[in-house]
Amino acid sequence: MRIILQFPEGLKQKAQEYAQRYEKEGHEVFVASAPCYGACDLCIDEARAVGAQKLVHVGHAEFMKMDVKGLEIEYIPYFDTLPKEILENAVEKALEMLHAHKKIALVTTVQHIGQIEEIKKAFEKGGKKILLEKGGKHVRHEGQILGCDSIAASKAAPNADCVVYFGGGQFHPLGIRAGKPVLVADPYLGKAYWITEEIEKLEKKRKGAILASAHAKNFGIIVSTKNGQFNLTGARLAKKELEKRGKKALLLVSNEIFPLALEDFNMFDAYISTACPRIGDDHSIYKKPIIDFGDFKRVLELMDAVDGRKK
Ligand code: SF4
Repeated sequence: MRIILQFPEGLKQKAQEYAQRYEKEGHEVFVASAPCYGACDLCIDEARAVGAQKLVHVGHAEFMKMDVKGLEIEYIPYFDTLPKEILENAVEKALEMLHAHKKIALVTTVQHIGQIEEIKKAFEKGGKKILLEKGGKHVRHEGQILGCDSIAASKAAPNADCVVYFGGGQFHPLGIRAGKPVLVADPYLGKAYWITEEIEKLEKKRKGAILASAHAKNFGIIVSTKNGQFNLTGARLAKKELEKRGKKALLLVSNEIFPLALEDFNMFDAYISTACPRIGDDHSIYKKPIIDFGDFKRVLELMDAVDGRKK
């Protein structure tokens, strides 16, 4: 069989090991080398180009069921197994900062889901009550969050004193909107820290961009061809609604969204993105407001209010 393997950034160093395993079984193996940021981003085009019969996406849990004729798709989630002392050290550091917080909404990425029971027990040993919830349609496990889905946190938060994100990096915890303080317990740095202020700053930026775009006249509407991000219906609707309000709008299609590639479209005052909702996190690198499609309704309401055409 001809197989194409895909790895997210951070797991590409495992490519050879996986490839050899399949080659030993007699398969012909290709490895997709383009950047891959999430489970939403399967290398279907590369699979078609090389005539692969199977696509193996390593690292993430299944994002959505994809029916691609002649192509079998398999997700192999990558579960990290942290040594006991590293896991417990991160929990201990978190406990030192959680004196006033008894009930905790615990979340993590798929990478640590295999150890969620262990993490939970370590917090319980420290006298905490742990709340675990299952997120939206793109997640597979209780307590699991994605960069675009922190529902596991927002569901558990109303009954909790705070949210604890167990894992490395800031991308995932910065996406948590739960109305409660968020603490990061990072086993790789061996420390814990509050990230609530940074989340609030991002939220302020998001609101500022929404406000600014309500006064914009010319919009670029971003469509990503990544299978889990593709939203042509939303993009067409956005164009229609903007034109109804006398605005100009152009549909922009690409696989990946680069600030540099958008730079020469200097006619636009703002962008509406129907792609990954985290694209607009760093508005400053795009030099224009980027509004996620999820906030588009709010933009229209503000436009109507500005025009005195309240509905
Ligand atoms: S849409 Fe964005 S945040 Fe969600 S899985 Fe894809 S890359 Fe990650």
